Amino acid sequence: MREWKTVIGLEVHAEMETESKMFSACPVVDSVEAEPNSAVDALSLGLPGALPVINMQAMENGIMVGLALNCEIPPINQFARKNYFYPDLPKGYQISQYDRPLAVNGYVSIELDDGGSKRIRVRRAHMEEDTGKLSHIMDGSLVDYNRAGVPLLEIVSEPDISSAEEAEAYARKLRSILRYLGVNSGDMSKGVLRFEANVSVMHESDTQLRERTEIKNLNSIRNMGKAINYEVRRQINIYRDGGSVKPATLGWDEAAQKITVQRYKERADEYRYFPEPDLPIMEVSREMVAQIAAKLPALPDELKRRFVDELGLSSYDAGLITAEKAVAEYFQRIVASGVDPKLAVNWLTTDLFGMMNAREVEREAIESIPVSADNFAGLLSLVQEGKINASTARKKVLPEMWKTGKDARAIVDEGGLAQISDASVIEASADKVLAANVDMVERYLGGNEKVLNALFGKIMGEMRGKGDPAVVRRVLLDKLGDMK
Ligand code: ADP
Ligand code: MG
Repeated sequence: MREWKTVIGLEVHAEMETESKMFSACPVVDSVEAEPNSAVDALSLGLPGALPVINMQAMENGIMVGLALNCEIPPINQFARKNYFYPDLPKGYQISQYDRPLAVNGYVSIELDDGGSKRIRVRRAHMEEDTGKLSHIMDGSLVDYNRAGVPLLEIVSEPDISSAEEAEAYARKLRSILRYLGVNSGDMSKGVLRFEANVSVMHESDTQLRERTEIKNLNSIRNMGKAINYEVRRQINIYRDGGSVKPATLGWDEAAQKITVQRYKERADEYRYFPEPDLPIMEVSREMVAQIAAKLPALPDELKRRFVDELGLSSYDAGLITAEKAVAEYFQRIVASGVDPKLAVNWLTTDLFGMMNAREVEREAIESIPVSADNFAGLLSLVQEGKINASTARKKVLPEMWKTGKDARAIVDEGGLAQISDASVIEASADKVLAANVDMVERYLGGNEKVLNALFGKIMGEMRGKGDPAVVRRVLLDKLGDMK
């Protein structure tokens, strides 16, 4: 396999979450919850004589995405008709953009497994309208035009992606940026964000790209990775058997975990693009671009850099907590309350993420877990100040906080869980444990150092886990030292 390289370019469709559709005042509704065909108007239905008007909010959102993807925003953009017939497109053409897209020549940085990063170039991003949605049932097809005309930004990468892992990293980063910008929820199950992977392979002796196939119907980033790996193996096998890869549109069959061929492309699609005569050419002034740029929030890469430079986090940890905006905000609240950033990131990424994983809570839902950022900060302050020890915090207080939503101090007070650092109290417990475990003491004195941890554990147990570990250790060593 090593003499074959993978080449991938991604086409991403992201609905812009605006109140109304791209070219009319018709409202945009939830694709799953709304009654089919409850949000349609003359334009969505392609009725003759209905004229489009550009939704400026959608254009601004699109330009914002373009800027966030480091694109140039050309001073002029223009809509074009993409002509084809399909039942989900009653006009017989889709209003899209062709040679004058909204944004060009950008890039997205992705993190690689070896800790490095790589830029995936973004060729263009253009605005278009979404189509209706077809549902194929037993003896026919149903069509819902609620989605017809929803603003849709298509983001096209250069074929710079060299593995399924890189494709997944690119998709995750793009999704993260869209969520940071607040222009798209990233909910792939609702189809508001859709990925299509163009895949080919290159032999190490090749100087040009080979024929590619295009995989559609990918309903999660993970499945996209699986589909790409499957398709790469399929293509290599075809070439090894002396065959040739035919251009095709493929689908991913999740149940069977395999690629299915939807259709072979005999020749390039012919859409007979021409400028949309019902819409004006749109000038994008430099002032407008500057105004939109000024409104851009801090994006994940920038936040990550700040967390590394200003808070001293590792690049890995900073990446973990900036991938999702809600997590980054949760973390910032904790740090703002005076908790040490490294303590905060450790507890967040191990203990809290662990609890969330166990309960199948998505990272983006961190805002609504029973442990609020302020309460979590309260817990970590108690740990930081030595009011409770880490093990009590982890095993007793945090689970109780999740269960009851109460703040840490209340739980500590009610349960009498405060850490005991008073050496005289600890000495009393130590004496009791040492007297009851003479055999272990003898083994220690005979040179078996490992017994120390067992004795430490017994003293902590005697103190119901509340001893200050540092003091317990010191007291224990002192006492054993005296016996030598
Ligand atoms: P079209 O205009 O027919 O859709 P493009 O050349 O614009 O084709 O490419 C569409 C997508 O396919 C882009 O994301 C591009 O990076 C990718 N792509 C183009 N050629 C290849 C190839 N040989 N292998 C993998 N991806 C490719
Ligand atoms: Mg294409």
